[in-house]
Amino acid sequence: MIQYPPQIKNLIESFAKLPGIGRKTAERFVFYLIKQEKEELYQFANHLAKLHEANFTCPQCFNFSPRQGLCDICGDEKRDKTTLCVVEEFHDLSNIENTKLYNGLYHVLGGKIDPPSGMTADRLKIRELIKRIQTEQITEIILALNPDIQGEGTILYLRKELLPLNVRLTLLARGLPMGGNIEYADEVTLSNALKGRQALN
Ligand SMILES: [Zn+2]
Repeated sequence: MIQYPPQIKNLIESFAKLPGIGRKTAERFVFYLIKQEKEELYQFANHLAKLHEANFTCPQCFNFSPRQGLCDICGDEKRDKTTLCVVEEFHDLSNIENTKLYNGLYHVLGGKIDPPSGMTADRLKIRELIKRIQTEQITEIILALNPDIQGEGTILYLRKELLPLNVRLTLLARGLPMGGNIEYADEVTLSNALKGRQALN
């Protein structure tokens, strides 16, 4: 293999750690960047360095927030406060938002139950979800979890926990292929999955 100077080698290794980026793509990124103006590179580096400051989380739904306090969705008076869409991660929320079909609120669990990797129910925002159902005027919970084994397990767990709370529980229609990801679903598939959601109780 070609021996790159350490500046190039280190950056290739950093890019190659990103999800879905193999070594070849990492090399392409670096060889693209190396041709850019110095100012452009400094700006890029500056954006990266500041990323850790973007750690505001909405205290209500656990979405990212541009400030301390409620996120733009929770703070929007025009949103339907009676419907709550439960997702695993922020990128699922963002993909559902892009369909522009959903006008309710969200709740980001922060993952799904997967005991072998240490993800137990108490590490997810489930207690917070139950508290919201008990204290806000929510009438429907849409469980928008990914249709893989861990997602299905989490749905079963949530169903058991939420059934006694006297709230309508629905599931995204199975337009998503088994193992398919909300993160990668196209807007038409997601819109259909939202429109055709099925009652769980
Ligand atoms: Zn929020």
